[in-house]
Amino acid sequence: MVLDLLPVPAVIVEIRGGKFHFEALNRPFRMAGLGTVAMDSPVVRLLGMRIRNFLESNETHLEIAWQFGDEVDCRYFRVMFARRAANRAQMRCLVTLVDQTSELRTEYSLRREMATDSLTGLPNRTGFSDELENAIGPDDRAGHAVLVINLDRFSRVNACMGGLAGDELLISVARRLKGALRGRDVLARMGGDEFGVLLVLDDGPNDALHVAKRVHAALANPFRLSDFEIRVDCAIGIAMGADNDGDPEDLIRNAQFAVKRAKKSGRTEVYHTRAFDIAREQFGIETELRRAIENGQMTLSFQPICDLASGRITSFEALARWTTEDGVKLSPNDFIPVAEESGLIVPLGRWAMEEAARTLAIWDAQAGGAGDVKVAVNLSAIQLQRDQIPAMVKGALDRHGICGSRLTLELTESAIVTDPDRIAQTMKALKDLGATLAMDDFGTGYSNLAYLQKLPIDLLKIDRSFVTGMLADRDKIAIVRAILSLAQALGMQTTAEGIETNELAQTLAALGCTYGQGYLYARPLEADQAFQLLTERNA
Ligand code: C2E
Ligand code: CA
Ligand code: CA
Repeated sequence: MVLDLLPVPAVIVEIRGGKFHFEALNRPFRMAGLGTVAMDSPVVRLLGMRIRNFLESNETHLEIAWQFGDEVDCRYFRVMFARRAANRAQMRCLVTLVDQTSELRTEYSLRREMATDSLTGLPNRTGFSDELENAIGPDDRAGHAVLVINLDRFSRVNACMGGLAGDELLISVARRLKGALRGRDVLARMGGDEFGVLLVLDDGPNDALHVAKRVHAALANPFRLSDFEIRVDCAIGIAMGADNDGDPEDLIRNAQFAVKRAKKSGRTEVYHTRAFDIAREQFGIETELRRAIENGQMTLSFQPICDLASGRITSFEALARWTTEDGVKLSPNDFIPVAEESGLIVPLGRWAMEEAARTLAIWDAQAGGAGDVKVAVNLSAIQLQRDQIPAMVKGALDRHGICGSRLTLELTESAIVTDPDRIAQTMKALKDLGATLAMDDFGTGYSNLAYLQKLPIDLLKIDRSFVTGMLADRDKIAIVRAILSLAQALGMQTTAEGIETNELAQTLAALGCTYGQGYLYARPLEADQAFQLLTERNA
């Protein structure tokens, strides 16, 4: 039979009396498991309607794609219907099938491979885009968010411990991230040390912030790599679907913008359009902040600073707190930048100085006489430029009968950089009042060592970023050692910020650091609690 000459499955199908019949079928057709009798052949069972429609049409040729079988064992065919002429009286056609299963499987697996990160098995950047494209329709954008997670200092692990260790770390990180997400969230490795997450928001934008917290918590414990413990911090940027009316790709790009900001600010950042930011700052926080300062809605918290050798509390750092009218507690990291941009830092700083002196006077009265505990007040670089600081400080001390030696003022390196001559005068005047001067967040700025030497600085505060995770990080230890020996050479004392474990406190004491501050001793406390702690500890 002529059909047997064809190398592909082929059959002649005829509809007679409304029923399908096979006129002829070839060996490949039989071999392909497509049946021998029209009634039980999948070609008729599953394609019967298509064949009938074709025969009732005016076409002489039709080609369709057809898949057949269950998911696992699915086979893909191109099916061709053909007849000599369109003729309704003659309801018969030739059906040939070309099995494309293996080509398509190769193509699918290639496509999958191209969209998969071979190290972690997660979708890569391309795969992540595909997932986004599939998941987000134009109407359900608001229900999604993209998180971009960027690991800190990962390149150093690679450089110090080798690429294999780096790979191992990435795999462990991916595993922990996966564990921190819900089943429906999609995790991808976007490249290098950057991961992406596509989130479905059940509960609005807050969901995304919760997931960010969970991610941080998941990475909080150090990773074990051969003989080392490695701490991996990360920065997280979020883009909310609701804020985005471009294509889904924009969500990824916006989240990447946000993560860049997060790297600088040290906290999770949500992407906003520039217009949104301006509106918020100028009409939202700014007016509220002005009102809060005027109406006394701000408070100070006090965090103890301890002598590392004796454990005694030597001073408290005064940290501003703002609870808004609707009960939201805002972090200074949120409102200090706004205060600086708007000039409100001047009244805010004056209030903080006044409140610190007032609290110290209350403590002294409660203790029945002046003690020796100090209060440290932060001065912003902008405040130093705009206010008459020495007169302001003297006024506050005088009003509350506090001696200048009870006060520490914390300045940052940026204050020196902006106007070194003016700052030198200010610092000298503050020294004349008897105050202690501390250089805050030391190591993060760009201190000119010559200035450090010239200025009357008593104390360097080693920034928290060098202290956190220091024990597992040779670079950090080296930096801390360098700061300590610099301080020693210049005759300055040192405070390590962010001490959260006993082990850290002991190591820092052994390295010669003078004071320590951090959650190990206490979180920032309300004034009453702080005074109570002071009387207990220093009894
Ligand atoms: P800072 O001067 O470096 O203050 C230390 C910050 O580290 C505080 O955050 C404190 O709560 C936090 N901290 C202390 N110990 C630990 C620890 O063990 N672990 C961790 N993870 N964190 C710890 P806070 O209160 O949010 O203040 C943030 C920044 O806001 C301060 O950083 C300071 O630069 C600024 N700030 C706060 N109050 C004032 C103020 O009255 N005036 C000015 N100009 N700036 C202020
Ligand atoms: Ca400080
Ligand atoms: Ca600090």
